[in-house]
Amino acid sequence: MKAKNILLISVGGTIIMGGKSRSKNGVVPIFNGSDLVKMLPSFKKNINLDIYEYGNYPSPQINMNNMFEIRNIILKNLDKYDGFVITHGTDTLEETAYFLDLTLPKKRAVVLTAAMRSVDELGMDGPRNIYSSIRVAASNDGHYHKVMVVLNDDIFDAKTVTKIDTSNISSFSSLYMGILGIVDEDKVVFYRKRYHYEYYDIDSISTNVPLIKLYAGADSTFIDAAINNNADGIVIEALGRGNVPPNVLPGIKRAIEKRIPILIVSRAYQGRVLDVYGYDGGGKQLKKMGCIFGGGLSGQKARIKLTILLAMKIPKEKLTQYFKND
Ligand code: ASP
Repeated sequence: MKAKNILLISVGGTIIMGGKSRSKNGVVPIFNGSDLVKMLPSFKKNINLDIYEYGNYPSPQINMNNMFEIRNIILKNLDKYDGFVITHGTDTLEETAYFLDLTLPKKRAVVLTAAMRSVDELGMDGPRNIYSSIRVAASNDGHYHKVMVVLNDDIFDAKTVTKIDTSNISSFSSLYMGILGIVDEDKVVFYRKRYHYEYYDIDSISTNVPLIKLYAGADSTFIDAAINNNADGIVIEALGRGNVPPNVLPGIKRAIEKRIPILIVSRAYQGRVLDVYGYDGGGKQLKKMGCIFGGGLSGQKARIKLTILLAMKIPKEKLTQYFKND
């Protein structure tokens, strides 16, 4: 069997951090990708692993320019490697994963992984997660699933996966969409496929798209702030089926008058938004005003997608059709 060539891109996160047991200053980056790879058992002759040291960023410090750079590193190396593994902090991992899912062609397996426990903690999960991710990236079926997230030997798709726990090592879930598969001792097993893949070939990313979460009694304050800050688009995490408190409507109206696209998703964890309700602030009114409905995407994923579509210069009138499979 021909050996698989895998590129590990080390971005940062708790997986390269330590300090919990010794320092009063908290957990901080102390390692790099090469240090992590030294902790792995040997892959015999099946896998050639190269390492790209991108950085040692805690993932709250990751922004879309980093995501764009990581995407370009993969694109540049697409024909040289059979698969890619990215080690990343868990906090914004799902956003980087979805960004890559939307901006890479469906050609190679790309697996993001992380750790919930730092390198000097009892029961550290980093090396095991990297080892399993490399196996997924090198598996013959990996490329069918495009961008995946592997933690705790579960395989998730980039579109639905989300961080659900702040500390447990079983910290990721695709909620009712479920796992794509598992990494078992003898093999990588996939149980389901995805139906929809998208690919947007952007050449820059500089759009300003804030995400605003709504609550009982919310008003237009944050929407007006976004308008004043020259937002290119605004994502609103609305209530339930996609409804807003009435005092949010004037802000939405002002944004739409300024031709700023408003994308509505729900703060509920599962299910799609839909223009069902006809009361003041209900989805029917939002639709009539010209809001776009973002299906079942979470706020943070919807923001990634709208940013990319705006970077693609998709005309505002056409944006709705890009969310029809969400
Ligand atoms: N705060 C860390 C980060 O996202 C958490 C982690 O990596 O698990 O970088």
